Amino acid sequence: MNVFAVMDARSNVNGGKLMEESIRSILADPGILGDAAASLARDADIRLAGVSSMQIVQILMEVESRFEIEIPEDMIRPETFRSIGVIAEAVEVVVKQQSPVGKPPNGEPMDRASTAGTRLRAPGVEMTSRADESVLDGLRASLARLFAHEVDDHYTAPPVIARSVSERAGYPSSFPHLLGEVHGALPGSGTGPSDLVLTSAACHHLYPLISEEWRKELGCLSVEAACYRGEATAETGRLRSFRMYEIVRWGAPDDIAMWRHRALSIAESWLRDLGLSIERAAANDPFFGSAGRYLASAQQSEQLKWEMLADVDDGVNQAVASVNYHKDHFGEAFGLARPDGSVGHSACLAFGLDRLLLALKQRYGSQIPAWPETIRARLEL
Ligand SMILES: [Zn+2]
Repeated sequence: MNVFAVMDARSNVNGGKLMEESIRSILADPGILGDAAASLARDADIRLAGVSSMQIVQILMEVESRFEIEIPEDMIRPETFRSIGVIAEAVEVVVKQQSPVGKPPNGEPMDRASTAGTRLRAPGVEMTSRADESVLDGLRASLARLFAHEVDDHYTAPPVIARSVSERAGYPSSFPHLLGEVHGALPGSGTGPSDLVLTSAACHHLYPLISEEWRKELGCLSVEAACYRGEATAETGRLRSFRMYEIVRWGAPDDIAMWRHRALSIAESWLRDLGLSIERAAANDPFFGSAGRYLASAQQSEQLKWEMLADVDDGVNQAVASVNYHKDHFGEAFGLARPDGSVGHSACLAFGLDRLLLALKQRYGSQIPAWPETIRARLEL
Protein backbone atom coordinates (compact mmCIF):
# COMPACT_ATOMS: atom_id res chain seq x y z
CA MET A 1 0.00 0.00 0.00
CA ASN A 2 1.43 3.37 -0.85
CA VAL A 3 1.75 6.20 1.58
CA PHE A 4 -0.71 8.44 -0.31
CA ALA A 5 -3.50 5.93 0.14
CA VAL A 6 -2.88 6.04 3.90
CA MET A 7 -2.94 9.82 3.95
CA ASP A 8 -6.15 9.79 1.94
CA ALA A 9 -7.64 7.32 4.34
CA ARG A 10 -6.70 9.54 7.29
CA SER A 11 -8.07 12.69 5.75
CA ASN A 12 -11.23 11.10 4.38
CA VAL A 13 -12.49 9.34 7.44
CA ASN A 14 -16.00 8.62 6.37
CA GLY A 15 -16.36 4.90 7.02
CA GLY A 16 -16.35 4.47 3.27
CA LYS A 17 -14.22 2.66 0.79
CA LEU A 18 -10.86 4.26 1.57
CA MET A 19 -10.60 3.06 5.14
CA GLU A 20 -11.83 -0.38 4.18
CA GLU A 21 -9.38 -0.58 1.27
CA SER A 22 -6.51 0.43 3.55
CA ILE A 23 -7.27 -2.46 5.89
CA ARG A 24 -7.75 -4.81 2.95
CA SER A 25 -4.31 -3.87 1.58
CA ILE A 26 -2.71 -4.83 4.92
CA LEU A 27 -4.49 -8.20 4.72
CA ALA A 28 -3.21 -8.55 1.13
CA ASP A 29 0.34 -8.89 2.46
CA PRO A 30 1.72 -12.16 1.02
CA GLY A 31 2.44 -13.30 4.58
CA ILE A 32 -1.20 -12.84 5.60
CA LEU A 33 -3.93 -13.54 3.02
CA GLY A 34 -2.22 -12.47 -0.21
CA ASP A 35 -4.50 -12.24 -3.24
CA ALA A 36 -7.40 -13.78 -1.32
CA ALA A 37 -7.79 -10.48 0.56
CA ALA A 38 -9.23 -8.77 -2.51
CA SER A 39 -12.30 -10.97 -2.62
CA LEU A 40 -12.88 -11.14 1.14
CA ALA A 41 -16.30 -9.78 2.11
CA ARG A 42 -16.38 -6.74 4.41
CA ASP A 43 -18.10 -8.70 7.19
CA ALA A 44 -16.36 -12.06 6.70
CA ASP A 45 -14.61 -13.47 9.77
CA ILE A 46 -10.89 -13.04 9.07
CA ARG A 47 -10.00 -15.94 11.37
CA LEU A 48 -12.20 -18.27 9.33
CA ALA A 49 -10.50 -16.88 6.23
CA GLY A 50 -7.23 -18.22 7.64
CA VAL A 51 -5.76 -15.31 9.62
CA SER A 52 -3.97 -16.56 12.76
CA SER A 53 -3.66 -14.80 16.12
CA MET A 54 -0.05 -13.89 15.35
CA GLN A 55 -1.09 -12.38 12.02
CA ILE A 56 -3.78 -10.36 13.79
CA VAL A 57 -0.98 -8.94 15.94
CA GLN A 58 0.86 -8.07 12.72
CA ILE A 59 -2.28 -6.36 11.39
CA LEU A 60 -2.69 -4.42 14.63
CA MET A 61 0.91 -3.18 14.49
CA GLU A 62 0.57 -2.28 10.83
CA VAL A 63 -2.70 -0.40 11.42
CA GLU A 64 -1.14 1.55 14.29
CA SER A 65 1.98 2.46 12.39
CA ARG A 66 0.32 3.29 9.06
CA PHE A 67 -2.45 5.40 10.57
CA GLU A 68 -0.12 6.87 13.18
CA ILE A 69 -2.52 6.02 15.94
CA GLU A 70 -2.44 4.06 19.16
CA ILE A 71 -5.47 1.84 19.57
CA PRO A 72 -6.61 2.27 23.19
CA GLU A 73 -6.40 -0.56 25.73
CA ASP A 74 -10.18 -1.12 25.95
CA MET A 75 -10.46 -1.67 22.19
CA ILE A 76 -7.72 -4.32 22.04
CA ARG A 77 -10.06 -7.28 22.09
CA PRO A 78 -10.39 -10.19 19.66
CA GLU A 79 -13.85 -8.81 18.64
CA THR A 80 -12.22 -5.60 17.40
CA PHE A 81 -10.28 -7.62 14.85
CA ARG A 82 -13.08 -9.87 13.59
CA SER A 83 -13.66 -8.54 10.06
CA ILE A 84 -12.45 -5.84 7.69
CA GLY A 85 -15.60 -3.85 8.44
CA VAL A 86 -15.16 -4.00 12.23
CA ILE A 87 -11.47 -3.07 12.02
CA ALA A 88 -12.25 -0.16 9.66
CA GLU A 89 -14.90 1.17 12.06
CA ALA A 90 -12.56 0.84 15.06
CA VAL A 91 -9.73 2.63 13.24
CA GLU A 92 -12.12 5.37 12.17
CA VAL A 93 -13.18 5.99 15.77
CA VAL A 94 -9.55 6.19 16.92
CA VAL A 95 -8.42 8.38 14.02
CA LYS A 96 -11.20 10.84 14.87
CA GLN A 97 -10.17 10.89 18.54
CA GLN A 98 -6.41 11.07 18.15
CA SER A 99 -4.11 13.37 16.38
CA PRO A 100 -1.13 11.54 14.89
CA VAL A 101 1.08 10.39 17.73
CA GLY A 102 4.05 9.23 15.72
CA LYS A 103 5.49 5.97 16.81
CA PRO A 104 3.77 4.08 19.62
CA PRO A 105 5.81 4.33 22.83
CA ASN A 106 7.47 0.94 22.40
CA GLY A 107 10.96 2.21 23.01
CA GLU A 108 10.42 4.12 26.24
CA PRO A 109 12.90 3.20 28.91
CA MET A 110 11.56 1.07 31.76
CA ASP A 111 11.55 2.64 35.19
CA ARG A 112 13.88 -0.02 36.51
CA ALA A 113 14.63 -0.46 40.16
CA SER A 114 18.12 0.87 40.53
CA THR A 115 20.99 0.08 42.79
CA ALA A 116 22.00 3.73 42.80
CA GLY A 117 22.02 5.57 46.13
CA THR A 118 23.03 4.37 49.53
CA ARG A 119 21.69 0.82 49.31
CA LEU A 120 24.39 -1.77 48.77
CA ARG A 121 22.21 -4.71 47.82
CA ALA A 122 20.24 -4.82 44.58
CA PRO A 123 16.43 -4.74 44.98
CA GLY A 124 14.78 -8.03 44.07
CA VAL A 125 17.99 -10.01 44.55
CA GLU A 126 17.76 -11.84 47.87
CA MET A 127 19.89 -14.34 49.76
CA THR A 128 18.34 -17.42 51.41
CA SER A 129 19.37 -18.44 54.93
CA ARG A 130 19.84 -22.07 55.90
CA ALA A 131 16.51 -22.11 57.78
CA ASP A 132 14.68 -20.63 54.80
CA GLU A 133 16.38 -23.06 52.43
CA SER A 134 15.04 -25.94 54.53
CA VAL A 135 11.51 -24.65 53.83
CA LEU A 136 12.29 -24.59 50.10
CA ASP A 137 13.60 -28.16 50.39
CA GLY A 138 10.34 -29.15 52.07
CA LEU A 139 8.34 -27.55 49.26
CA ARG A 140 10.46 -29.32 46.61
CA ALA A 141 10.03 -32.71 48.28
CA SER A 142 6.31 -32.18 48.73
CA LEU A 143 5.85 -31.20 45.06
CA ALA A 144 7.92 -34.20 43.94
CA ARG A 145 5.61 -36.50 45.96
CA LEU A 146 2.50 -34.75 44.63
CA PHE A 147 3.41 -35.44 41.00
CA ALA A 148 5.45 -38.63 41.47
CA HIS A 149 2.79 -40.73 39.71
CA GLU A 150 3.20 -38.91 36.41
CA VAL A 151 6.60 -37.20 36.29
CA ASP A 152 9.11 -39.26 34.27
CA ASP A 153 12.19 -37.42 35.54
CA HIS A 154 13.25 -34.25 37.33
CA TYR A 155 15.96 -31.83 36.20
CA THR A 156 17.85 -28.99 37.82
CA ALA A 157 18.60 -26.35 35.20
CA PRO A 158 21.31 -23.69 35.18
CA PRO A 159 20.57 -19.96 35.43
CA VAL A 160 21.59 -19.46 31.77
CA ILE A 161 20.13 -20.87 28.58
CA ALA A 162 21.06 -20.84 24.88
CA ARG A 163 19.97 -17.57 23.30
CA SER A 164 18.67 -19.62 20.35
CA VAL A 165 16.33 -21.57 22.67
CA SER A 166 15.00 -18.38 24.25
CA GLU A 167 14.43 -16.99 20.74
CA ARG A 168 12.63 -20.12 19.60
CA ALA A 169 10.44 -19.87 22.68
CA GLY A 170 9.56 -16.35 21.49
CA TYR A 171 10.77 -14.72 24.70
CA PRO A 172 13.05 -11.89 23.45
CA SER A 173 10.40 -10.68 20.99
CA SER A 174 7.44 -10.84 23.39
CA PHE A 175 9.22 -9.86 26.63
CA PRO A 176 12.33 -7.81 25.71
CA HIS A 177 11.74 -5.72 28.86
CA LEU A 178 12.11 -8.77 31.12
CA LEU A 179 14.99 -10.58 29.41
CA GLY A 180 18.47 -10.57 30.94
CA GLU A 181 21.40 -10.80 28.54
CA VAL A 182 24.81 -12.32 29.15
CA HIS A 183 27.72 -10.25 27.87
CA GLY A 184 31.29 -11.40 27.93
CA ALA A 185 34.49 -11.99 26.06
CA LEU A 186 33.95 -13.35 22.58
CA PRO A 187 36.52 -15.48 20.79
CA GLY A 188 38.75 -13.11 18.84
CA SER A 189 36.33 -10.19 18.73
CA GLY A 190 36.39 -8.32 22.02
CA THR A 191 33.31 -8.33 24.23
CA GLY A 192 29.61 -8.36 23.49
CA PRO A 193 26.40 -10.37 23.83
CA SER A 194 27.21 -14.06 24.18
CA ASP A 195 25.31 -17.09 22.90
CA LEU A 196 23.59 -17.30 26.31
CA VAL A 197 20.83 -15.33 28.03
CA LEU A 198 19.58 -15.62 31.61
CA THR A 199 16.87 -18.25 32.14
CA SER A 200 13.45 -16.58 32.01
CA ALA A 201 11.28 -19.63 32.70
CA ALA A 202 12.42 -23.02 33.97
CA CYS A 203 10.32 -24.88 31.40
CA HIS A 204 12.23 -23.36 28.46
CA HIS A 205 15.05 -25.79 29.31
CA LEU A 206 12.80 -28.79 28.76
CA TYR A 207 11.40 -28.27 25.23
CA PRO A 208 14.69 -28.93 23.37
CA LEU A 209 15.27 -31.91 25.65
CA ILE A 210 11.79 -33.31 24.97
CA SER A 211 12.32 -32.81 21.26
CA GLU A 212 15.78 -34.35 21.11
CA GLU A 213 15.86 -36.95 23.87
CA TRP A 214 12.49 -37.89 25.27
CA ARG A 215 10.67 -38.17 21.94
CA LYS A 216 7.59 -39.59 23.64
CA GLU A 217 4.13 -38.98 22.33
CA LEU A 218 2.94 -38.08 25.80
CA GLY A 219 5.05 -37.31 28.81
CA CYS A 220 5.65 -35.27 31.89
CA LEU A 221 8.86 -33.84 33.35
CA SER A 222 9.65 -31.46 36.18
CA VAL A 223 12.42 -28.90 36.38
CA GLU A 224 13.77 -26.27 38.72
CA ALA A 225 15.81 -23.26 37.62
CA ALA A 226 17.03 -19.97 38.99
CA CYS A 227 15.25 -17.46 36.76
CA TYR A 228 15.79 -13.79 36.03
CA ARG A 229 13.21 -11.16 35.09
CA GLY A 230 13.86 -7.45 34.77
CA GLU A 231 11.03 -6.38 37.09
CA ALA A 232 10.31 -2.67 37.04
CA THR A 233 9.40 -2.25 40.72
CA ALA A 234 10.89 -3.46 43.95
CA GLU A 235 7.93 -4.40 46.20
CA THR A 236 8.10 -7.59 48.30
CA GLY A 237 8.00 -10.69 46.10
CA ARG A 238 8.83 -8.72 42.95
CA LEU A 239 12.08 -10.64 42.65
CA ARG A 240 14.47 -10.29 39.75
CA SER A 241 16.16 -13.56 40.66
CA PHE A 242 13.98 -16.43 41.89
CA ARG A 243 13.67 -20.22 41.88
CA MET A 244 10.90 -21.65 39.74
CA TYR A 245 9.73 -25.28 40.02
CA GLU A 246 7.72 -26.45 37.04
CA ILE A 247 5.85 -29.51 35.89
CA VAL A 248 5.53 -29.72 32.11
CA ARG A 249 3.25 -32.09 30.27
CA TRP A 250 3.07 -32.61 26.52
CA GLY A 251 0.89 -34.74 24.27
CA ALA A 252 -2.38 -34.68 22.35
CA PRO A 253 -4.46 -31.48 22.50
CA ASP A 254 -7.35 -33.12 24.42
CA ASP A 255 -5.06 -34.64 27.01
CA ILE A 256 -3.22 -31.38 27.64
CA ALA A 257 -6.40 -29.30 27.79
CA MET A 258 -7.73 -31.69 30.47
CA TRP A 259 -4.42 -31.91 32.31
CA ARG A 260 -4.19 -28.16 32.87
CA HIS A 261 -7.59 -28.21 34.66
CA ARG A 262 -6.47 -31.14 36.78
CA ALA A 263 -3.11 -29.50 37.48
CA LEU A 264 -4.86 -26.31 38.56
CA SER A 265 -7.06 -28.10 41.08
CA ILE A 266 -4.19 -30.26 42.41
CA ALA A 267 -2.06 -27.14 42.88
CA GLU A 268 -4.87 -25.25 44.57
CA SER A 269 -5.58 -27.94 47.11
CA TRP A 270 -1.84 -28.37 47.81
CA LEU A 271 -1.55 -24.63 48.47
CA ARG A 272 -4.67 -24.68 50.68
CA ASP A 273 -3.26 -27.65 52.60
CA LEU A 274 -0.32 -25.38 53.42
CA GLY A 275 -2.88 -23.07 55.02
CA LEU A 276 -2.61 -20.34 52.38
CA SER A 277 -5.71 -18.53 51.25
CA ILE A 278 -5.57 -18.68 47.51
CA GLU A 279 -7.35 -16.58 44.97
CA ARG A 280 -7.60 -17.93 41.44
CA ALA A 281 -7.53 -15.50 38.51
CA ALA A 282 -7.48 -15.80 34.72
CA ALA A 283 -4.26 -14.04 33.81
CA ASN A 284 -2.05 -12.97 30.97
CA ASP A 285 1.69 -12.74 30.55
CA PRO A 286 3.13 -9.20 30.52
CA PHE A 287 3.68 -9.03 26.75
CA PHE A 288 5.54 -5.97 25.56
CA GLY A 289 4.26 -3.09 23.43
CA SER A 290 1.01 -2.44 21.58
CA ALA A 291 0.94 -5.82 19.84
CA GLY A 292 1.50 -7.30 23.28
CA ARG A 293 -1.76 -5.77 24.45
CA TYR A 294 -3.58 -7.83 21.84
CA LEU A 295 -1.71 -11.04 22.74
CA ALA A 296 -2.45 -10.47 26.43
CA SER A 297 -6.12 -9.88 25.71
CA ALA A 298 -6.39 -13.00 23.52
CA GLN A 299 -4.59 -15.09 26.17
CA GLN A 300 -6.98 -13.88 28.84
CA SER A 301 -10.15 -14.29 26.78
CA GLU A 302 -9.15 -17.86 25.88
CA GLN A 303 -8.32 -18.48 29.56
CA LEU A 304 -4.97 -20.04 28.68
CA LYS A 305 -3.27 -18.89 31.87
CA TRP A 306 -4.50 -19.12 35.45
CA GLU A 307 -2.69 -17.69 38.43
CA MET A 308 -3.01 -18.64 42.08
CA LEU A 309 -2.43 -15.59 44.24
CA ALA A 310 -1.55 -15.35 47.92
CA ASP A 311 -0.57 -12.56 50.32
CA VAL A 312 3.21 -12.23 50.43
CA ASP A 313 3.24 -9.06 52.54
CA ASP A 314 0.69 -6.73 54.16
CA GLY A 315 -1.62 -5.74 51.31
CA VAL A 316 0.59 -7.37 48.65
CA ASN A 317 -1.12 -10.20 46.80
CA GLN A 318 1.01 -12.01 44.21
CA ALA A 319 0.94 -15.11 42.03
CA VAL A 320 2.69 -17.98 43.84
CA ALA A 321 1.78 -20.49 41.13
CA SER A 322 0.34 -20.49 37.64
CA VAL A 323 -0.78 -22.93 35.01
CA ASN A 324 -0.21 -22.06 31.39
CA TYR A 325 -1.69 -23.89 28.41
CA HIS A 326 0.61 -23.14 25.45
CA LYS A 327 -1.48 -25.00 22.86
CA ASP A 328 0.94 -25.73 19.96
CA HIS A 329 3.28 -22.76 20.64
CA PHE A 330 6.25 -24.77 21.96
CA GLY A 331 5.31 -27.86 19.92
CA GLU A 332 5.65 -25.79 16.77
CA ALA A 333 8.82 -24.02 17.90
CA PHE A 334 10.68 -27.14 19.05
CA GLY A 335 9.25 -29.78 16.72
CA LEU A 336 7.14 -31.84 19.15
CA ALA A 337 5.44 -34.01 16.57
CA ARG A 338 2.63 -36.50 17.16
CA PRO A 339 2.58 -39.94 15.47
CA ASP A 340 -0.10 -38.72 13.04
CA GLY A 341 2.18 -35.84 12.01
CA SER A 342 0.24 -33.16 13.91
CA VAL A 343 1.96 -30.79 16.35
CA GLY A 344 1.95 -31.76 20.02
CA HIS A 345 0.45 -29.45 22.64
CA SER A 346 2.02 -28.55 25.99
CA ALA A 347 1.14 -26.99 29.32
CA CYS A 348 3.13 -26.13 32.40
CA LEU A 349 2.38 -25.67 36.07
CA ALA A 350 4.87 -23.33 37.73
CA PHE A 351 5.53 -22.64 41.41
CA GLY A 352 7.54 -19.63 42.56
CA LEU A 353 9.47 -21.19 45.46
CA ASP A 354 10.74 -17.88 46.88
CA ARG A 355 7.27 -16.35 46.78
CA LEU A 356 5.82 -19.43 48.48
CA LEU A 357 8.35 -18.92 51.27
CA LEU A 358 7.25 -15.28 51.58
CA ALA A 359 3.58 -16.33 51.62
CA LEU A 360 4.23 -18.91 54.36
CA LYS A 361 6.12 -16.34 56.45
CA GLN A 362 3.34 -13.82 55.94
CA ARG A 363 0.85 -16.44 57.15
CA TYR A 364 2.78 -17.97 60.06
CA GLY A 365 5.50 -15.45 60.91
CA SER A 366 9.23 -15.37 60.34
CA GLN A 367 10.07 -17.83 63.15
CA ILE A 368 9.85 -21.22 61.43
CA PRO A 369 10.04 -23.28 64.70
CA ALA A 370 6.85 -21.49 65.78
CA TRP A 371 4.87 -22.56 62.68
CA PRO A 372 1.95 -24.97 63.28
CA GLU A 373 2.98 -28.58 63.78
CA THR A 374 0.88 -29.79 60.82
CA ILE A 375 2.62 -27.42 58.41
CA ARG A 376 6.07 -28.25 59.76
CA ALA A 377 5.33 -31.96 59.41
CA ARG A 378 4.10 -31.43 55.88
CA LEU A 379 7.37 -29.71 54.98
CA GLU A 380 9.51 -32.08 57.08
CA LEU A 381 10.88 -29.20 59.16
ZN1 LIG B 1 6.51 -22.82 32.04
